[in-house]
Amino acid sequence: MVETLRQSGIEPLGDLPWGAHICLFYEGVGDLLDVVVPYFSAGVRGNECCIWAVAEGVPMDEAKAALRREVPDLDRRLADGAVELVPCRDWYLPDSRFDLQRIVRGWHERLDEALARGFDGLRVSGDAFWVESRYRQAFSDYELELDESVAGRKLLVLCTYPAELSRAVDVLEVTRSHQLTLARRRGEWEVLETAELIRAKQELLRLKAELEDRVRLRTLQLAAANAQLETENQERERAEAALAEAQTELARAARLTSLGVLAASIAHEVNQPLAAILTNAEASLRLLAADPPDMAEALAALKQIAGDARRAGDVIKRLRSLVAGTAEHADVDINDAIREVAALMRSQLQARRVTLRLDLEPGDPHVLGDRLQLQQAIMNLVSNAVEAMGRAGGPPTVTIRSDVDADGAVVLSVEDQGPGVEPETADRLFDPFFTTKAGGMGMGLSIVRSVAEAHGGRLSLSAGPRAGAVFQLTIPSRRAAP
Ligand code: ADP
Repeated sequence: MVETLRQSGIEPLGDLPWGAHICLFYEGVGDLLDVVVPYFSAGVRGNECCIWAVAEGVPMDEAKAALRREVPDLDRRLADGAVELVPCRDWYLPDSRFDLQRIVRGWHERLDEALARGFDGLRVSGDAFWVESRYRQAFSDYELELDESVAGRKLLVLCTYPAELSRAVDVLEVTRSHQLTLARRRGEWEVLETAELIRAKQELLRLKAELEDRVRLRTLQLAAANAQLETENQERERAEAALAEAQTELARAARLTSLGVLAASIAHEVNQPLAAILTNAEASLRLLAADPPDMAEALAALKQIAGDARRAGDVIKRLRSLVAGTAEHADVDINDAIREVAALMRSQLQARRVTLRLDLEPGDPHVLGDRLQLQQAIMNLVSNAVEAMGRAGGPPTVTIRSDVDADGAVVLSVEDQGPGVEPETADRLFDPFFTTKAGGMGMGLSIVRSVAEAHGGRLSLSAGPRAGAVFQLTIPSRRAAP
């Protein structure tokens, strides 16, 4: 809780917390008014209810006139009870009886009333000018009681003591029962602090220094933790970027490796019939050019050529089914397979800042087939789409869609917003080795078509709604064998 301080109006004191209980030794009436008048004037300004039990040595009119000089609307405030001046004998000794409990209770009741009326608190001052020797002890007990009871209350109390009537022993007694002692003598200030106050102040200073040390230490710890967190973040970002790059590189390498192996095996398998074709073609030319031409031998060589060409065709066919593998026939949840591909390609796509959109048939269609082959086909189509958009520089979004057509076949499509396909190249796209890319192998679509065929389906191309290309893989729906 933040304690609001009150302006004391007393020059050497400045601001005071609620619950302050101060005593003032004064020399003459002038000294008394020098302190009490600004004290109450500050109370009025601070929206406090003020009660002044006026010293007997000060005529009531003189007290009012002095206060009026500082509080010009004093009479209105007196009329509505915001300020009250009472002869101190009336306050402390009604019926000539000094009743300690009644007086303390009286201050508290007036405080409750003031708070109920909307004042911030109660400011009082009472004088001990009337203290006759027979009340000395009772008044001293009252001060001690009051000192304890003001703590924690919205109450400020200023007790004034005429210096000339106070014996040295009284001064000590009075000082002990107040938090702070002031003296005003012939216009000069003296401030006496009690030992408790000094100790409290020292304790406060110690606590403050301790707190500042703790705050400094904690700030240093926080700064260190923050710096470490930042470094860790940067390291994590670097690691993530490196991982994404490595994954892209790996996918490319895997693709190139499988294509390289394929190309090597094609070369190996086809080279032999090609060499035979070349040999037989040269022989045929020679035999036909001879005079007379050796038609029978030439015919035999040409037959060999046809046979070798068929063999080369068979090799290609065999290789295609090798690439497509022997399709497994298991139940494949198409949407699930697509989601898995999306997850696998996520970092590759992120690295290229491509957004992948999935538009999946809510009925979760299933086909009978080879999950891995189907996923490889989708990956090839998505990679092509990404590469096509890279060239076009268009908005990089690729959509994978699953659908069921009128025949109940599952249609998987991959749509991009790249430049699309030129009509004159459209019918060659699916041929093996057809490519328009500098480093392309021209095998991707061929493999996808093999996969489609291995599943009894087909691969087709149509124009996308926004320029781009849409490749559709149609797989007939077949029930899983029971
Ligand atoms: P590669 O891309 O490795 O050359 P592909 O068989 O995957 O082999 O593709 C053959 C050709 O088809 C590509 O070179 C490209 O010209 C064209 N192509 C494939 N996908 C797309 C697409 N999404 N948009 C435009 N053209 C494409």
